[in-house]
Amino acid sequence: MISIMLIAGNWKMNYGLKELYDFSNTFKSFEPSKDIDLCIIPPFPIIKEAKHIFQETKINVGAQCCHYKLEGSFTGDVSPKLLSEIGCDYVITGHSERRSNHFETNAYVKNTVLSLINKNITPIICVGETQEEKRKGNTFNFIKKQVSESVPIINDALIVVAYEPIWAIGSGNIPSEEEIEKIHNLIREELNSIPYLKVIYGGSVNEKNCKEIFSIPSVEGALIGGASLNFKEFLAIYNSGVKYLNSFKR
Ligand code: PEP
Repeated sequence: MISIMLIAGNWKMNYGLKELYDFSNTFKSFEPSKDIDLCIIPPFPIIKEAKHIFQETKINVGAQCCHYKLEGSFTGDVSPKLLSEIGCDYVITGHSERRSNHFETNAYVKNTVLSLINKNITPIICVGETQEEKRKGNTFNFIKKQVSESVPIINDALIVVAYEPIWAIGSGNIPSEEEIEKIHNLIREELNSIPYLKVIYGGSVNEKNCKEIFSIPSVEGALIGGASLNFKEFLAIYNSGVKYLNSFKR
């Protein structure tokens, strides 16, 4: 069953085994909701240990990127096949830091998504405009093109698209609620032939602003960088999402 929301924490190139065990301690009190999936996305070398320590829990584990090929002469790259073998649940592809520092193009991202689906891993596909595109009033067209070139039409597996305006990442600035709603709706319209689609928001989400972000109708979760490194805060964000969804049940 596909949950309503996904809350994922991208550790980027931070932390190691010690912090993984700290995370596990903080999340001892974690009460999973069937409505919201939780995922941590640590650096590659500790994914297998994370899968091991969370095997009896509802905590999912993801990777921050991968190659689109299943094997071959790609020094330093990691294959979706191996990630699947160690039980990886989600993989981010097309994060703006990978697009700018590691040449992950739209075509690369699209091929990666196809390989991930082939290996039963859920892709989290990042899209988002630069400050410059926003300044030129080009956000709508930029996202439309990025989505159509990065996201393959898949009808039998969950596809997660994360709208992450580059200028919002790590800056403390977020778009207005109307802007988020407009872009999420655009993404949904562009991909309306994908039956299992989740559109989540990323960019400076924290404990203070998450309530307002979750209450935007088109937001189905969050991809969180900085605030996911503070485990108590990350747990509080998850609990805020649960509280928000539970408010509809009364
Ligand atoms: C990110 O880089 O995916 C991200 C959302 O970072 P932050 O939450 O720190 O803005």
